Amino acid sequence: MKLIVANWKSNPSTHAEAIRLAKEIDWKGVVIVPPFIYLEAISDVLKNASLGAQDVSPNDVGPHTGEIAPRQLIDLKVEYVIVGHSERRKAGETDEEIQKELVATLNAGLKAVLCVGESAEVRKNGFEAAKKFVKEQLESVFSGLSQSLKVMSYELYVAYEPIWAIGTGTTDTPESAAEMASFIKQLMVNSYKLSVNVLYGGSLNASNAKSFLSRSEIGGALVGGASLRSDEFKKIVETTQ
Ligand code: PEP
Repeated sequence: MKLIVANWKSNPSTHAEAIRLAKEIDWKGVVIVPPFIYLEAISDVLKNASLGAQDVSPNDVGPHTGEIAPRQLIDLKVEYVIVGHSERRKAGETDEEIQKELVATLNAGLKAVLCVGESAEVRKNGFEAAKKFVKEQLESVFSGLSQSLKVMSYELYVAYEPIWAIGTGTTDTPESAAEMASFIKQLMVNSYKLSVNVLYGGSLNASNAKSFLSRSEIGGALVGGASLRSDEFKKIVETTQ
């Protein structure tokens, strides 16, 4: 079954709207990722969907003002954490911090969705340049990671999200996204002996979802804007069934 992750970012603006929307998209195979402040209330109403967090502290509980530790998420029945979203990277998160967050997520027994993807400037130089960029992003996170992992088994997803496709209405082509997904999977197995599922993210909507999600290389989607409209999101989820 393909995984469809609904990244609400900093939406909606009220608690009541968040609950209403969560109930509307409470389907199996969906991960609802609301702002932290709505996690607890949504956790209480979900019957089918899983719950995710948009970020996590690399630190355990303790004197870390403003941070949310992995075990606090687990207490709210959160199962997934998005790590290294491009909007977090833009806000200043470094590769080093992202590696620490990934380690903390996996060591706590949470499932991680690690985001990678190139800027328009990189893609201007061609698809090979994009692959090189993604490879370097993965290397910066996974080199040396095995020494820090305390757990033997973990569930890891890599979301390929070209930055120029996020929230712009322009997607990558399904062919390129599938090729990048294969490239990432091979790299992860060959270099790190890790088998991962690759999600596509970037302006996915009801009209284009099938062309991406019908590809065997693509294990699901990370959906931003379209996950805030239940009718639109329903059509995306239906393409996987
Ligand atoms: C995202 O931010 O992860 C994303 C894919 O956003 P959108 O679907 O709005 O492009």
